[in-house]
Amino acid sequence: MVKSETARILLVEDERPLREALADALSAEGFSVEQAATGAAGLAAFRAQTPDLVLLDLMLPEMSGIEVCRAIRTNSSVPVIMVTAKASETDRVAGLNLGADDYVTKPFSSRELSARIRAVLRRSGATPAPSAERLVRIGEAEIDLEGQRILRNGAVVHVKPKAFQLLAFLIANAGRVYSREQLLDRVWGYDYAGETRTVDVHMHALRRAIEATPASPVALQTVRNIGYVLRRTT
Ligand code: CA
Repeated sequence: MVKSETARILLVEDERPLREALADALSAEGFSVEQAATGAAGLAAFRAQTPDLVLLDLMLPEMSGIEVCRAIRTNSSVPVIMVTAKASETDRVAGLNLGADDYVTKPFSSRELSARIRAVLRRSGATPAPSAERLVRIGEAEIDLEGQRILRNGAVVHVKPKAFQLLAFLIANAGRVYSREQLLDRVWGYDYAGETRTVDVHMHALRRAIEATPASPVALQTVRNIGYVLRRTT
């Protein structure tokens, strides 16, 4: 991953002193930070700026962090870290399966938070790539890494956000073979309790999205008895 490009973080937090302290701390860690004080403002900023990661407070006035996360997830697989006030809230919110990538519980140190942010960015494959790599051709499709879209003959092919994250991860690690367990760990997260079959289902969807002949994939190959690899031919 390229370190010279700054990951852009959208911070949605209504408590101003906390928001400003976090923005300062994350800026000092090398992130570019945009701030929003309400859920609605956060959503508007998200749509206008397409940040690399959203740091989202759970308890927000009017529109809660849960609603904001749901709205984001209708059309984006951008990494989201939810900020909760109590560990019990984290359990409850995680149980709702909102599609957040990680959760942090107040209080937390800025060092811990930036480590979590970096881990989530790495896992999602959403760390900004060199500009030439923002649009990559894989199989029959063009992958718009910045817009998180798959294009085929100029038309958007819809896949689930996790499928896109899986594809982005494999693009970032092209030529490396991963087991299903490794992909679950790297893409879904260390605490994901699902089955390795989940990987197969998403891989199947990706093959249909990008391969000329999904049954005989050229790019998204199965490595027998091991797992999967993305091969780039161009
Ligand atoms: Ca709050």
